[in-house]
Amino acid sequence: MSIATLDAASIDPATPDLVAFPDCAVCGEQAWIPIYEGPVRDGAFGNSRASGMVAECVGCGVRRLDEHSCHDDAVYTDAAYREILGEASDTNGFHAAHDPLQLERLNVVNPMTLRGKVVADVGCAAGSFLDFVAGLARSVIAIEPGKPYHESLTRRGFHVYDYTTHALDDCVGAVEHAFSFQVIEHVEAPAAFLTEIAALMAPGGRLTVSTPNRGDLLMELLPEDYPPFFYRSVHRWYFSDDSLARCGRAAGLVPVETRFVHRFGVANTLRWLRERAPGGRHPLPGLDDPALDSVWRDTLAREGTADTIYMTFEKPLP
Ligand SMILES: [Zn+2]
Repeated sequence: MSIATLDAASIDPATPDLVAFPDCAVCGEQAWIPIYEGPVRDGAFGNSRASGMVAECVGCGVRRLDEHSCHDDAVYTDAAYREILGEASDTNGFHAAHDPLQLERLNVVNPMTLRGKVVADVGCAAGSFLDFVAGLARSVIAIEPGKPYHESLTRRGFHVYDYTTHALDDCVGAVEHAFSFQVIEHVEAPAAFLTEIAALMAPGGRLTVSTPNRGDLLMELLPEDYPPFFYRSVHRWYFSDDSLARCGRAAGLVPVETRFVHRFGVANTLRWLRERAPGGRHPLPGLDDPALDSVWRDTLAREGTADTIYMTFEKPLP
C-alpha cells in the first residue's frame, strides 16, 4: 500500500495482526482500527522503516505502531538509543543539548512549588531537569534505564534506580511530585508504567507527564508528508489528551491539568509546508520575530494543536 492516512470508516475494525497488535496495554480492548500504513521514521530525519502500520484502539482511542516496527526496550539500557537519534550518548553531550530545553518544563511546573518535596524523574536520562529543581527539593530520585548516566547522577546526590519497580523498596508512597517527560510513548505497557509510578507516589502527590501530541497541527495540514515523520520506530504509542487522561485513570490517577506546549516558531510550520521537511529552529527571512512566534505558540497551545501535551495527575487520598 502506498503512503496514506487510511479512511478509518472504510476499514473493517477487525484486529489487523494479532501479534503486531496485541490486547491494548491501556484498556485491554482487543479490536484495533488501522489508521496509517507506510514508512515510519527510524531515528533522525531521512532514515525510515518501509512498512509500518499504526492502528487506533477501539476502547480508549490510543494509537500504536505495530510491534514489528518497534525497537526492543533493551535499546534504552546502553548508548544505542542516542545513537539511533544521532545524539551524544555521554552525560556532557546530553547536558549541552538538553539543558536549554528545561525552561519549558519549569514553566509547566509553575505555579506549583517543589520546595521541600520528594521529587522523582522517571526516564531522566542525564538528569538535566533534576539539576534545575534539586536545590528546592528535599530529596531527588532519578530513575533511568540508561547505564551510561548512572555514575554522574549518583555523584550529583540523586537516588538512582534503573526502573521504577526497583525504586519501590526504598521509596514506595514517598514521592510528592513525579515527572516523566517524553517516556510513556516508548514503553511496552503505558498503563502499567503509570501504575508503577503511582505506587511510588504519596497520597495527594502529583505526576506530570509529557508526550508528543497526536493532534499536532501538522498532522492536519500535511496528512501525506507529516505522518511518516511523526510516527517513528522508537515510539510505540501516540496519545491525544483524551487517551492520555484515560491511561492515567487506568492507573488510578486523576487528571487535574492539561497544558499544550509548542516548541517551534512559525517558520518551522511554514518550512514544512514549503519544503515538506523539518526545518528545526531555522528562521525564515522576514519572519524572525520573537513576538510573532510567541503569539503563534500561544495560539496552538490554546487550540490544542501544539506539538507536546503536558498532563498533571493527582493520586487520590485513601
Ligand atoms: Zn485501549
